[in-house]
Amino acid sequence: MMFWQNKTVVVAGGAGFIGQHLVQALLNANAHVHVIDNYSTGHTLEVQPRHPHQLTQQQHDICDPATVPHADVIFNLASPASPLHYQSDPIQTWKTNLLGTMHMLDHVLACEGTLVQASTSEVYGDPLSHPQKETDWGNVNPIGPRACYDESKRAAETLLIDAVRTKGADIRIARIFNTYGPGMGVSDGRAIPNFAAQASEGKPITIHGDGTQTRSFCHVSDTVAALLRLGMVADAKGEVVNIGNPSEVTILEIAELVNALFGNKSEILFTPRPIDDPQRRCPDISKARRLLGWTPQTTFKDGILTLYQSDRASLRV
Ligand code: NAD
Ligand code: UDP
Repeated sequence: MMFWQNKTVVVAGGAGFIGQHLVQALLNANAHVHVIDNYSTGHTLEVQPRHPHQLTQQQHDICDPATVPHADVIFNLASPASPLHYQSDPIQTWKTNLLGTMHMLDHVLACEGTLVQASTSEVYGDPLSHPQKETDWGNVNPIGPRACYDESKRAAETLLIDAVRTKGADIRIARIFNTYGPGMGVSDGRAIPNFAAQASEGKPITIHGDGTQTRSFCHVSDTVAALLRLGMVADAKGEVVNIGNPSEVTILEIAELVNALFGNKSEILFTPRPIDDPQRRCPDISKARRLLGWTPQTTFKDGILTLYQSDRASLRV
């Protein structure tokens, strides 16, 4: 991917789950990468630069202004993503997605560069349309426990689109749907790492509710490929694009599949459903296909194997 060669790319949130995969892909494409992270949910970088000067990092909370190197492209991934994390300090979630995004906007305007913002399928809330298109306005409970994340991500989208309209900023917004893959934290609380950790240890697999709720899980390699395309493609300027895998599965099906992979050692335990947990989630990705020439390549059955190494789940402990 010649586009990234010798570009300076800032990745805020680059020490997180998706961030580390993105940073590695950028390093492989010969970009110079500068990671900004406060390590609240991220961890020590485990990426391999081609040469020592290719990668720099800065421990910094994006809620505070900072001196950041000049960037051709900024990816703003800094935000807790797991419900467990973003609800543990809702005010910090707000600050990160509002003040932090404002700082990233200021920086991209100063650099006259491109900003790729990680938004989320949570902007659709408990969606009224199915599958979700970018034109869906969302169905979010503004005072529920998930709102600190959903509404602050929505506000960040509004802020950035206003900057496109009024300042001609080069901004591209990725509405990322559930992403999974190696490197997720075992204590992260999300379904896939929970199920993989539970199944590999023969502990009960905890399903919230009856498991009929659906999600559409995209392998991180596909999510990263889409983010890179979003940063590159000129026609994506000012656009909001769904990034996800449109194959929809129930949570019970996922639990059974993961259990089978690890030898069916676990029983399935049905536990109370969290408040405002969306019932269905599936992206319409026709815009991403058309605009980015991208389509996810990894089936769930293949993708889940990337979490499986001998008899252990390849999760961070
Ligand atoms: P993650 O929690 O693994 O990574 C987030 C990273 O951001 C961490 O390294 C964390 O330390 C850092 N961070 C958080 N607040 C910060 C702050 N104030 N200043 C600096 N760094 C900060 O999450 P992830 O799964 O890698 O998600 C990355 C991005 O993608 C997030 O913006 C998330 O909202 C979005 N997203 C993820 C998913 C998914 O399924 N993983 C789905 C939709 C959207
Ligand atoms: N979930 C579950 N058991 C768990 C963790 C999650 O049944 O141990 C459910 C959760 O309630 C939701 C779905 O799995 O219905 C996906 O949850 P996750 O936290 O991975 O993502 P999100 O809720 O953000 O879509």
